[in-house]
Amino acid sequence: MDDLKYQVDLLTALNERLMKSEKMYRRIAECSGTLFMYFDLKSSPAKVDLVGPWDDMVGEKIANHPYDESYMLNLLLDEDQDEFRIHMLELEREGLESGSCEVRSRNKRYWLSCFAKVTYDDEHRPIEKIISIKDITKIKMNSEELEYLAFYDSLTGVYNRNYFVRKFRDMCELADSEETSVEIMFVDIDDFKKINDSIGLLFGDELVQEFGQYLKDFNSDDILVGRFGSDVFVIAVYNPCGQRSADVVYRKIKERLRHPFVLTNKTELMFTVSCGVAEYPDAGRTALEVIKNAEIVLYKAKERGKNGIQYFELEILNKFINNISVEKQLKEAIETNGFQLYYQPQYYASDGKLRGAEVLLRWPDPEGDGFITSPDEFIPIAEKNGAIVPIGNFVLKEALKTFNDWRTKYHIPMILSVNISAVSLEKENFVDTVSHALSLYGVSPEVLELEITESVFINNFEDVIDKIKTLRGLGIRVSLDDFGTGFSSLSYLRQIPIDTIKIDRSFIETAVKDDSSGIIYESVIEMSKKLGFETVAEGVETREQFNYLREKKIDIIQGFLLGRPISKVEFEKLLIRQMP
Ligand code: C2E
Ligand code: CA
Ligand code: CA
Repeated sequence: MDDLKYQVDLLTALNERLMKSEKMYRRIAECSGTLFMYFDLKSSPAKVDLVGPWDDMVGEKIANHPYDESYMLNLLLDEDQDEFRIHMLELEREGLESGSCEVRSRNKRYWLSCFAKVTYDDEHRPIEKIISIKDITKIKMNSEELEYLAFYDSLTGVYNRNYFVRKFRDMCELADSEETSVEIMFVDIDDFKKINDSIGLLFGDELVQEFGQYLKDFNSDDILVGRFGSDVFVIAVYNPCGQRSADVVYRKIKERLRHPFVLTNKTELMFTVSCGVAEYPDAGRTALEVIKNAEIVLYKAKERGKNGIQYFELEILNKFINNISVEKQLKEAIETNGFQLYYQPQYYASDGKLRGAEVLLRWPDPEGDGFITSPDEFIPIAEKNGAIVPIGNFVLKEALKTFNDWRTKYHIPMILSVNISAVSLEKENFVDTVSHALSLYGVSPEVLELEITESVFINNFEDVIDKIKTLRGLGIRVSLDDFGTGFSSLSYLRQIPIDTIKIDRSFIETAVKDDSSGIIYESVIEMSKKLGFETVAEGVETREQFNYLREKKIDIIQGFLLGRPISKVEFEKLLIRQMP
């Protein structure tokens, strides 16, 4: 009897321990956030046990449902059920030990990672199977977002740079094998910086977004659209028909741009775009080279006045490469004081007396006795990258220093004309720089003449007029150079406060040849005199031109006929000859 009681007590104790540990494992399973399905495969039909927070996941009391192998399937999205079936339910039939898959729940709210493990007996009969199911929605969402970020531009939804380049490369490879070509087009909003400044960055972004979404619709099997930078879009066209394909895209874009883009704040905006187009393999050996070259011709389109399309030309590329090398050399020349000044004499037409000299910049080649390149080539480059400002300061100082030397040595009265770039004149401290240079060498302002061109008035007419007035107020003379080459209208001459007008050399060539040009030249001289300006004829090369000008009562003559630009040493010889 005691024995029996002992046996019962022992069983009770064992049972309690078992229940306790089962409770513990269930609790642990629930806390893990993972769902478990336990299949006892020895019984038939298999006994299924669910452990873990199933109620939370399914959203209803699990115990109310009868469940078996297919229970789990019913929880899944129809199109993902096969995936689950193959990886999970059929494990034992295939005799495999484990498998896993990622599937979506029926309500699409969850991404589930399912892992199954089967245990076999000695004869390789399955005895139990455990499926564990984890909610991986968050991880999945993050990686989807990452994937999106990896391929697409988040603002506009077109391809981002990396992905576009990859796809473009693939297109080029395919083009090689199919013996065709791929065209790439850079599309860039004109004056986007100005637009941004006027409407603010946020609305600027919105505009890019709207435009990008419009461009996105060009995407097709043969066309890729991407964004490379703030307002720079790229469009690749596979197997284009010559320039026609890019032309068609360009014309469609232009058509769209005839109507304004409307922003959320109801602002209506119109803008234009510039396009650069290059074709693989014609415009480069590699995909990247073609992309780079399309960008280079885009800049050319901008240079040509925007709102236009520019196709790749070898000449543009060569000029670009040359400019880069000039730019690099310019930098070195500034650092090593590699420039030199030449002086071209100017004479009064009436009595042939020396009026003064125009200072002209020269860039001697340190390795030879020629010049690296002419100012007509390097000055526009220096203006574009801002190098003209230090260069211009050097010219001004050097010229005034030389002038001071000559004045003390030769006592010949003369006027020194210095060319001033619009870029320098626009600098806030320009007036100070000039007056500082004058006082540095004790030169009086009346002998300095600054030569400006009409281009200085393009950007901010009022500001420039104010600056010129200040300069003239100090006693400095101002001369309008190259008159007749820009938008030159005689009526606007009345509005600008200048002392001298230099009539461009292209005028004199024709003035002596045909009557109508002669009439224009004459009326320019007459009008200038009436407005009180001194007149200078530039580029006088022949005796015939000289006589003509004298007859028309021009004030001053400058040109190869009377003297070419010469070095400081040569000009000193000229001054000595002038001495009484
Ligand atoms: P520019 O101001 O119109 O200078 C006159 C140009 O005409 C000079 O060319 C001069 O050598 C040339 N020239 C003078 N007489 C004759 C002639 O009878 N026939 C012909 N065919 N040409 C003549 P250069 O020195 O090559 O300068 C070219 C341009 O570069 C200048 O045109 C000016 O715009 C710019 N430049 C030169 N030096 C400077 C400078 O120090 N600063 C700035 N900002 N620009 C400069
Ligand atoms: Ca000049
Ligand atoms: Ca000139």
